[in-house]
Order: sequence, then C-alpha cells, then structure tokens
Amino acid sequence: MTPYMQRVLDEVKARNKGEDLFIQTVEEVFASIEPIVAQHPEYEKAGLLERLCEPDRQISFRVTWQDDEGNFHTNRGFRVQFNGAIGPYKGGLRFHPSVTLDTMKFLAFEQTFKNALTGLPIGGGKGGSDFDPRGKSDNEIMRFCQAFMTELYRHIGPDVDVPAGDVGVGAREVGFLYGQYKRIKATWQNGVITGKGLSYGGSYFRPEATGYGAVYYLEEVLKHYGDTIKGKTVAVSGFGNVAWGVCEKVAELGGKVVTISGPDGYCYDPDGVVTEEKIAFLLEMRSSGRDRAQDYADKFGCKFVPGAKVWGEKVDICMPCAYQNEIGMKEAEQIVANGVEYYIEVANMPTTNEAIEYLKKNVKIVAPSKAVNAGGVATSALEMAQNSMRYSWEPAEVDEKLHLIMKNIHDNSAKAAEEVGLGYDLIAGANIAGFKKVAEAMLAEGVF
Ligand code: GLU
Repeated sequence: MTPYMQRVLDEVKARNKGEDLFIQTVEEVFASIEPIVAQHPEYEKAGLLERLCEPDRQISFRVTWQDDEGNFHTNRGFRVQFNGAIGPYKGGLRFHPSVTLDTMKFLAFEQTFKNALTGLPIGGGKGGSDFDPRGKSDNEIMRFCQAFMTELYRHIGPDVDVPAGDVGVGAREVGFLYGQYKRIKATWQNGVITGKGLSYGGSYFRPEATGYGAVYYLEEVLKHYGDTIKGKTVAVSGFGNVAWGVCEKVAELGGKVVTISGPDGYCYDPDGVVTEEKIAFLLEMRSSGRDRAQDYADKFGCKFVPGAKVWGEKVDICMPCAYQNEIGMKEAEQIVANGVEYYIEVANMPTTNEAIEYLKKNVKIVAPSKAVNAGGVATSALEMAQNSMRYSWEPAEVDEKLHLIMKNIHDNSAKAAEEVGLGYDLIAGANIAGFKKVAEAMLAEGVF
C-alpha cells in the first residue's frame, strides 16, 4: 500500500470505529487498487481517496408501525448515499434484524464500484432497516413499508436516488413501497424504485437478473479455462431470489445446483434443483415468510442437515448466495479440501478477507460478488431506461442486454488486471475497473 493509501486507511479506521464491515470493504478495495493509485499522484492532490471513503450523505430515521394486534413497534431506517459521481444513487433496501449503519455503509461502498462496473450511469447507495420480516402478515409488511416510505420519500427521486430490493425486500415490498411513494408525491415518477411489477413499470427479467447474470458471468470464467457448465455440480447457499435464479439458469445450461440453505440448516439434493416444480417451490418458500430451508427437504425427500452450512459438500463450483461473511477460514478449508475449482461469490461480500486470500491461493479462480451479482442492478438501470422512454423492451431484448453486460463486466475486469501485470485476477480487476471509472468522474467534476 502506498503511504497515501495507508494514511487514508488509518483515517477511515479512526473515523469509523466499530464499523468492521465497512472497514473490511475499504481494505479489500484498497488491496486491489494500489498499482493504479501509485500511477496517479493527482489522486492525492485532489484528496480523492478521502472523499471516496466518506459517504456523501447518510440518513437515519425512525419507522413506527402497527402490528395486527394494534401494538406499535419502532425500527430504525437508513439510506446511505455513498457516491453520486457517475449517476443518481442506486442500490437496494435490505430489511433484516442484523442491519446497522455499518451494514449499510459497506453495502453502499461496494455498490459504488459494482454500479460503475455495469458501464451504466448509476452512483452507489443502499438503505434498509433492522425490521425482521419473518413471520409478519402481509398487512404488517404493508404497514411497515408505508411507514418506511413516509420518511424515505423526501430523500429519493428518479434523478436523485433510486432504491430497489435486497435481502428481505422482494416484489411484494417494492409494490407497497412504490404505492406509498406515489400516494405521497401524487406523481407517477415510475423511475423511482426498481424491481417493480410488470403491470406498473417493471422490466422483464429483473427478478431473474441477479441469478441469471451470475451464471452468465460464470460461463465467461469457464470459457476462459476451456470448460463448460454441462454436468457440473454447484453448491449454493440461501434460497431467496438470487439462489432461485442461479438454480434455474444452471439447470437450463445442463449443470445442477445440489444444495440450498436457510437460517435453520441446509438441504442436499443429489438430483439437483433442476425441475420446474423444485425451482418454483423456492419462490413459495420465500413468499411463505417462514425462512426455513427444511421445507424443501420435507417436500422432496432429500437430506437436511440442521444448523450447518453447505460448504462441506463435494461439488465443482461454489456460489454463495446468502449473507456477508458466511465463509470464513473453516469453510474455505472445507472448500479447498473438497477440490472445488471455481469459487464464484454472488451475495454481497460473503467471504472474509482472510478466507479470500486463502481461496485465491488454493482454488482455480475466485470471482468477486461486486462483479458477479452486478446483473441485478444493471437490469434495474435497464428498468430506469425503459421507464424514461415510456417503453418496454421484449423479454429477449432485456436478456440479451443483461448477457452482454455480464460478458463486458467479466472482460473489462480481466483486462484491467492484465494491464497492471496481475494476470487473470478477477478480484483486482473488478476493483480496478470500477475504481478507475469513479475516480475519473470525481476528478472531472472538481473538488466539492
Ligand atoms: N440489491 C441489489 C444489489 O445488491 C440490487 C440493487 C438495485 O437493483 O438497485 O446490487
């Protein structure tokens, strides 16, 4: 790390004490961009890294809502508008009891580079709440979303900040959130949240986009090694929207996902999550609000291992699709011992920095989530484009665009690492390519 980078990192650590996830992300990005920072003394003169590591704005607000019994509950809501250099802030909303300002900051920081990588004009933001959707009725979810939007609406807008879904926020929640925004503002402004239903301005393929995009990216990686997905087994964690899309696309291309998981444990299905019935059941599991993976094992009669993670199973490819830091050293060692070749992160930052270093040395290739899962937000940007045009592309057109975006993300990342002599390093490449674009825009726009 250059002395300038070290100084900024020390400042970041001092200023964000206790925000370990955010610090972890900054360290991860800094570890990759050193060759570029070393080549550009103008970054230091413009105080660029200091500005890059401080959110433009972070908003915290109270959300009070009423349950079905008439009791009131108060949660904390957030929106972090991290970096708007290349476009309106863009990023999802996460509803999960673990959400803190730290979670929001790490996700918004990641989002800044991810969004830059898509090649589309979107800045980085993230929001959410420590609200736990598990076990809540539809009406409770609706009242919570309405209360949340009653504050959030004043901070967003089609040219300001465009939220979307993330963990705990799917089509149902987006509908309630958007409905409330429209009620308050009394205007259509249908670019204001993405992941909308098809009947009110959503885009084809947005629900599938993160999972499909991840598999399109995986295909490029396999191509690089002269390999294909046919006949490969894949371990996936989670069973939400992202895992669902991965299962479906992998099956379509002739591979099979053999694991899914939830907070209660994991399922191992040697026949694969490949039939229409099984794939559709994942959606039912998510909309039931039970958050239980065991339902799948009960229904299809396969193995369920309570309280454990999927990474002890022997597979060819690992695609973590659940939460941050679900893979530490212990899991990484299991993955290596099982002879996994391709480690493709899908969830945001699923691997600790220590485990990443170990995996990089011991598996064929590690691909970073900020590139692999960028198909979701990229398709959100396509939704914004369609909304602005008052037009809707056909499903095949959207899928084709998504496919091309994922190929470009892969190729641009590979090239960025190659150019600084790092070879086929997809982690460094994604960070460098994303950073270069944001840095160029920040320099061009002057210091503010
Ligand atoms: N939450 C997703 C992400 O992590 C999607 C964000 C969006 O579509 O704006 O990128």
